[in-house]
Amino acid sequence: VSALLEVKDLETSFLINGKYYNAVDGVSLRVNRKQIVGIVGESGCGKSVMSLSIMNLLPKNISRIRRGEIVFEGKRIDHLGEEELNRIRGKEMAMIFQEPMTSLNPVFTIGSQIAEVFFTHTNLSKKEARQRSIELLRSVGIARPESVVNEYPHQLSGGMRQRVMIAMAIACRPKLLIADEPTTALDVTVQAQILELLKDIQATNEMAVMLITHDLGVVAEMCDEVIVMYAGKIVERADVHSLFYHPKHPYTKLLMESIPRMDREVETLSSIRGIVPSLAQMPRSGCRFAERCPKAMPECKIVTPKLTEHSPGHEVACLLYEESVPVHEVMK
Ligand code: SF4
Ligand code: MG
Repeated sequence: VSALLEVKDLETSFLINGKYYNAVDGVSLRVNRKQIVGIVGESGCGKSVMSLSIMNLLPKNISRIRRGEIVFEGKRIDHLGEEELNRIRGKEMAMIFQEPMTSLNPVFTIGSQIAEVFFTHTNLSKKEARQRSIELLRSVGIARPESVVNEYPHQLSGGMRQRVMIAMAIACRPKLLIADEPTTALDVTVQAQILELLKDIQATNEMAVMLITHDLGVVAEMCDEVIVMYAGKIVERADVHSLFYHPKHPYTKLLMESIPRMDREVETLSSIRGIVPSLAQMPRSGCRFAERCPKAMPECKIVTPKLTEHSPGHEVACLLYEESVPVHEVMK
């Protein structure tokens, strides 16, 4: 299987009070053609920073890629200039975000914003672009696309705006779609419809999708492979079946217990105690989850767990699964 996207040992850091801290700390992953890969973790785990690094959309004055490579279709793209990047972004890879209102321009009609994508990447005439925009809107399930092209973002519901964003993202049939919390801002029924739509267009367009979410329920619905991130690092990686049936990392297990379920009383919903450490407070050694981990052992604050293959295709970074590390050895 050929990789469409490869991220190799990525370190992306942010400037805080004059010092750089890694928000993504040594992440390697690959997304194959037509594959749906889920990236899961609470907010503050580095998921969005990683996707912005891939798209080269990081805020330049306060962040930078410190190390690593981003390879798309066999070519490094992390050091490309704006012009070359613009040719890839929107055409070969596209991104949708949580809040479509902030990505759509409030002063332009829906039609002109979709047409803009065509003008940037194709030679379509104004008339053809309008026609294609209407077809696109219809393909993402928007009724009356002929009138919606003349409307402004505020005239649409949240769900419709997200459909418009999806339409814009797939306008040039990208090979990779990065979807960062695409349904988080929507209510539950609309969420389900948007996920259904994403699945449909993924299959029709034979795209790969990197789906970033804090919700393992969404992952179960959508993904082939799952990567769990905590505090800037990958803590577990597996195919969706192994992850759900044989979760290994204590963090993954807790995320799983916090999936809202219809058959469970609200009071029994478990949530994970504590919060993700902030960048400036990241422990220097040991497991970054140690403060919150119900299984933590004394050595967890000293030895940094390594992401290791536990069973074929299933990797985990937790000392519970490493060969025993005697504490006295460590303390020497
Ligand atoms: Fe918990 Fe220790 Fe495993 Fe970290 S290494 S997840 S603290 S058991
Ligand atoms: Mg995020």
